[in-house]
Amino acid sequence: MYQPREVLRLLGGRHARDLTDYQQRLIAAICVGWTPQDIAAASGRSSKSVYRHIRELACHVLDPVGFEPTRDFLRTWAELHATCCCAPAFHLISKNRVL
Ligand SMILES: [Zn+2]
Repeated sequence: MYQPREVLRLLGGRHARDLTDYQQRLIAAICVGWTPQDIAAASGRSSKSVYRHIRELACHVLDPVGFEPTRDFLRTWAELHATCCCAPAFHLISKNRVL
């Protein structure tokens, strides 16, 4: 396991500026604590597809730095990139328009 400080350094250095609009919405929902079931209900998608989309997003972001594709790591990553890669997601949160 990495030390907490090392986790933040590695995640902070991993930029992903190619996220889609839907992926920005997933990030926003995860950061405000929505569960995959909440996201499925709000978006009209099945829980199964929401789980798959979150996993694909987490793998896309976290695989290059060698982290498990968990929602906790994805949330930490997003918070570290609130003004760059995830700026659209945090804009959605500020407008209360997550999904
Ligand atoms: Zn970034």
